[in-house]
Amino acid sequence: MNWQKILDDIKEQIQPELGVGKVADYIPALSKVDPQAFGMAVNTMAGECFKTGDADLPFSIQSISKVFTLTIALGFENEGLFDRVGREPSGSAFNSIVQLEHEQGIPRNPFINAGAIVVTDTIITHCGEKSTANLILEFARNLSGSSRVHIDDDVARSEALWGNRNRSLAYFMKSFGVLKNDPEDVLQAYFCQCSLEMTCEELARSGSYLANDGVDPVSGKQVATHPHVNRINALMMTCGHYDMSGDFAFHVGLPGKSGVGGGILAIVPGICTVAVWSPALNRAGNSHAGTLALKLFSEKTNLNLF
Ligand code: GLN
Repeated sequence: MNWQKILDDIKEQIQPELGVGKVADYIPALSKVDPQAFGMAVNTMAGECFKTGDADLPFSIQSISKVFTLTIALGFENEGLFDRVGREPSGSAFNSIVQLEHEQGIPRNPFINAGAIVVTDTIITHCGEKSTANLILEFARNLSGSSRVHIDDDVARSEALWGNRNRSLAYFMKSFGVLKNDPEDVLQAYFCQCSLEMTCEELARSGSYLANDGVDPVSGKQVATHPHVNRINALMMTCGHYDMSGDFAFHVGLPGKSGVGGGILAIVPGICTVAVWSPALNRAGNSHAGTLALKLFSEKTNLNLF
């Protein structure tokens, strides 16, 4: 496969779509990003990286961090994790509160905000509130092989300042006894994980264990068990794009996870990982051009799982 040509062709074809949609503006720190930015990187199981455009510019990975925290929490709790968080698509917005009351405070899946807050709560139970943000940061650094990966303090402060919706979700779940720790501690760690900054290259490299049965192909380290990786990929396919998860599966046919920073991580089991970034978002809060770029990728490579 001529990965470099495929990426360069996608970059050229995607130009008219750049800037279509809306950059996240719920916090000032994200609203300043250039809507025209576009980067894409492929990391193969042989450890080769191919990239195009702004693939070396760091961006806020936001909800893509939910993949890392789910991996960590499954390692601690195994399937017991699913006593407190479901595994069904929600069909609602990522920050929706409506289903929580009907379902006794148990979020639909680990990739909507409420579900990710429960997942982070679980990590705090095992590691303590002081170490959790750092554990998540180190996890991302080790996987990416890059010590440059960091938590952007400005973004984290902004998330906390403008985090009333997430605060509502956390306290609402606490009232049902679903959260075990102090909601403020859980939110603090959650805001930090959302504020991780990575490049497309680092992100694609970090996700490699998800394409390789849980083993990091470069270090040979077992990051997650094979069954856990199956579960994570299944959840990425069914729930990774909120109320447009069906649309993503329909057009791209790969497990993927988006973030409101405009990034998407997609997994091609046994072959490669793909990270794409373009900040302008569609109505569900997923990168508009990023989604289309992955559609082109799956068409050009025929790597659609179906
Ligand atoms: N920080 C965002 C929030 O909690 C993350 C959401 C997202 O990336 N979809 O609202």
